[in-house]
Amino acid sequence: MQRRFSKLIIKLVMAVTCLGLVSALMVQPAAAVASWPVLRVGDSGPNVTTMQYLLRHRGYSLTVDGAFGTGTDTVVKQFQTANGLTADGIVGANTWSKLVVTLDVGANNNAVRGLQVQLNKYGYNLTVDGAFGTGTQNAVNDFKAKRYLGGGSTVGATTWQELTGGTTGGGGTRAQLAATIRDSSRIGLATSHPSGVLDNATPRQNIVDTANGGAARRSSYGTAPGGTVFLDTRMLNGMITLSSSWSYYVTSIAGASHSATSRHYDGVAVDVGSINGSLVSSSNPYQSAFRSKCASLGATEVLGPGDSGHSGHIHCAWPRP
Ligand SMILES: [Zn+2]
Repeated sequence: MQRRFSKLIIKLVMAVTCLGLVSALMVQPAAAVASWPVLRVGDSGPNVTTMQYLLRHRGYSLTVDGAFGTGTDTVVKQFQTANGLTADGIVGANTWSKLVVTLDVGANNNAVRGLQVQLNKYGYNLTVDGAFGTGTQNAVNDFKAKRYLGGGSTVGATTWQELTGGTTGGGGTRAQLAATIRDSSRIGLATSHPSGVLDNATPRQNIVDTANGGAARRSSYGTAPGGTVFLDTRMLNGMITLSSSWSYYVTSIAGASHSATSRHYDGVAVDVGSINGSLVSSSNPYQSAFRSKCASLGATEVLGPGDSGHSGHIHCAWPRP
């Protein structure tokens, strides 16, 4: 009797386990798991801008400038105290959860402005006007569809988390960032090298390989060293942020033949050949602001027209890892 009973228990456990397996298999292609970004004094960028808009929406008075300074810090601590959180000025999962609001078509407020800033990070180019109209709706639907988030145009906690996703820049893992770049209508990725040499180290192939979780290939002609390199997330985040201000065309990442010690081969450099449809030259109206933005995003080697060998492209390189 005892034995029969334990056999029954085993059968029951197995059945439940199988059910668990089946339901696990039935789960959708799976939105990659995003985490809330952690923001604190000294941080800047679109996630800070969104946080400031959300605080405004919650009735707090502060300047929305994308910079987490002492003024923002004071307001964050007030918000945390009012919501029963530790007033440490660090905006992590607990604070984000209290801060975000569920939004849908028809909303018109500062929280929508925060949402529009996030969507622009992914290249949707929306006017940040606080009105959740057709343009914002289309962007939300597209963003959610690409990440297998159901539920129409409603923006709830999961979508907010996916939007703000993990870092102060674009968010997410290396592969997620690359997927965002791959899918952006604002970032063109060359499928050949300026040299005309054909290999698997073109900008598009570099980004596709990275989005698939792999390393980017380097060219092996001229002075290029061959082999592979993992693209740096600082650069990928920078590329996403740049696309919220301009559409642009990438002519080189880890491939092509540069100087033998070029940062391109370390996965931290990107070359841009045109901005808003205008070829890079000394008379390009966007090149100066574009270069400044690269520098403000952490690039420490920014070259372009006026610099030797860079009359036709901008080179933004982050420090070597
Ligand atoms: Zn370069």
